[in-house]
This record gives sequence, structure tokens and C-alpha cells, in this order.
Amino acid sequence: MDESVFQAFLPELVDIRRRLHQMPETGYEERQTSALVADLMEGWGLTVTRGLAATGFVATLDRGGDRAIGLRADMDGLPIVEETGAVYASRIPGMMHACGHDGHTTMLIGAAFRLLHDDDFRGKVHFIFQPAEETAGGAARMIEEGLFERFPCEAVFALHNYPGLATGRFSARPGAMMAAIDAATLTVRGTGGHGARPEDTVDPIVAASSIVMALQTAVSRNVPPQEAGVITVGAFHAGSACNVIPDEAVLEISLRATDPDVRSKLCRRFEDIARLQAESFGAEVRIDWQVGYPVTMNDAAAVGLAAGVIRDTFGDDAFEPLDRPMMGSEDFAFMLEKVKGAYLFLGNGDSAGLHNSRYDFNDALLERGPVFLHALARRFFA
Ligand SMILES: [Zn+2]
Ligand SMILES: [Zn+2]
Repeated sequence: MDESVFQAFLPELVDIRRRLHQMPETGYEERQTSALVADLMEGWGLTVTRGLAATGFVATLDRGGDRAIGLRADMDGLPIVEETGAVYASRIPGMMHACGHDGHTTMLIGAAFRLLHDDDFRGKVHFIFQPAEETAGGAARMIEEGLFERFPCEAVFALHNYPGLATGRFSARPGAMMAAIDAATLTVRGTGGHGARPEDTVDPIVAASSIVMALQTAVSRNVPPQEAGVITVGAFHAGSACNVIPDEAVLEISLRATDPDVRSKLCRRFEDIARLQAESFGAEVRIDWQVGYPVTMNDAAAVGLAAGVIRDTFGDDAFEPLDRPMMGSEDFAFMLEKVKGAYLFLGNGDSAGLHNSRYDFNDALLERGPVFLHALARRFFA
């Protein structure tokens, strides 16, 4: 790769990132984003397969041989009102790229540009542009629609920017990198009545309160102290007046764990505690599970490969081993369940946090991200 060619392309890359920033689209609505990027890749001569998981697509660079690597970026924005004040701020009311997926998409474009300018390697690179990372499991849907049967990969890698980590510094760990998340709506059904005559009712507020308290024992009493887990009751809706006992209470609950066994145990305990606590009050429960993401499980060899590339390319300080998993979650986990690989953080510097209305992707990463992904693919094929 002639570095001066990439340097000359960098301003265009910044421009692409800012254009994407102006047109955020939420999960499975990324039609314009997807079209813009797919058209660009097609124009460069890559083989583009559109329509995986609605707005997702794969661009393939085939330099022969039978080895293949997958590099993935997410494309969706969030329903947040942007307050960055940037000249290139979102032009779509109530939507913004508050998680930096505009930057991830652009870094992958930059990686494709660099690899396209190399003809001295053998291998296939699948650039995977996925929709709906935030809430709707776009990665899982791409897999269901045959991602890895149609585009077999020996390994997959993804980057996510990380506010608070020094600009351009990478961080990852082997094993659990991000937690699994499951979310459920719990409806506790009793029998409402007059607030003066509790004996004629089954009070769902008392039953639900008891469930909330009992759930706090699941992590402390059922999970080994060395393991991590969180159960959060984030919403509790019931009743409308001080003298009326309502018919039902509705709770929104999230469960997180960094180990697959702890994850299933917490889900089981949640169901048992909710059902049995409610039963003891004569109330009934209904549990509606929503989409869950598994633990993001990094392959040790893949992390080793990436860390080696980072240290050799940018110096020893550029890679910071992550000592503990993060309790957030990530739907790249679904891809890592099928194909070994690694998910890495790339420091966004001292910026506002992810999902914050003042957050913005750091354009300085548009150089380092592509340089890393390019070097990673080259070493993978070497
Ligand atoms: Zn996010
Ligand atoms: Zn994100």
C-alpha cells in the first residue's frame, strides 16, 4: 500500500463519515446509508451482495486462494436528539449517530480502499455491513439469512469506538468481552378493588414489590461470587389512585451476565422467583421475553493476532489488555458464536459517552482504524 495514496484519500473518508452522520437511520431503515456505501464499493469493483437482513450487505474482495476473513461494521443510528452543535449534525429530527456506527462504517470503507490497493496477497475479504445492531439483532438475522453459508469466513473481526479510552488505543480481552443481555416484560395479575377492602382483592403491587426484592437475591445467592451478573428492574408501572387497588402491575426487567451458564441460571431464577412469589400472594404472572444477545466471546488466538498487529504497527502502548468484561452487550456476539474472531475497542478519546446527545465519533480514528484492519487482514493471510 502506497501510504501517500491513502493520505490523499483521508479527507474524502472524513467527508463520507460526516455525510453518514447527517443521515442517521435506525435499525432496518438504513436504506440510504446502505445504498450509499454499497454503491461506492460496487463502483470500486468489489462484488456486492445486497439485501441480507433487509438493509445489510456484504462486499467481497477476492484475491484468490481459499482463505477468507470477515470484517464487520454496524450502520444504524439511534432515536436521540443530537446536541453536538457540529456543522455536520444530523439533519433527521430526533435521530442521531450517537454510538459511532457512522464511524465504524467509514473505517470499514477505508479498510476496503487500502486492501483494494494491494494486489500482492491471496485471500478473500468479506466486508460485512450489518443493520440494526442497537436493539433488533441485525447480526442474528444476517446469519439466519445465510451469511456464513454464502460467505464462509475463517475468522471475523469488528471494532467499536470507546469514549474514555485514549484516542487510537485498542483494547480487548480473550474470552468474555461483553455481557449477554436478556430483557423481559413481567405482568403481575391480581384482582383489583377498593383500597379500604384489601381482603377482597389480590394486590398486584404488593406481589410485584415482593418480586422486585426477591430478584435481588438471584445474583447474591445463586451466582458464584467470582462471576458477574446484573438484574435491573428498570420500570414498574401500576395503579392510578391512592384508594384503588389495581388489577395488574407491569415491570420491565433486564438481565446481564458474562458467562453463558450464569446467563441461563439468572433467566431460570427470574422465572421461578416471579412465578412462585406471585403464587404465594394468589397472583399470576406472564413473562414476555424480548430479543436477547449472547455473551460476546473473543477467541484467544484471534485477540493474540490482533494485539500483535496493533503492537507491531502502532507500538506497544497502542494495545491495552482489558482486565474485565464490560457489562454492556453487542450483537456481534451472534457472529462470534458461529465463527471465531474478536471484537475490539478503539479509543475515541475524551468524548461524551455512547448514546449521549453530545457524543460524536472521533474522525482521527478514520486513519488508524483502516490501517489496523488492513494490516490484520494481511497478517491473517500471510
Ligand atoms: Zn450503541
Ligand atoms: Zn454501538
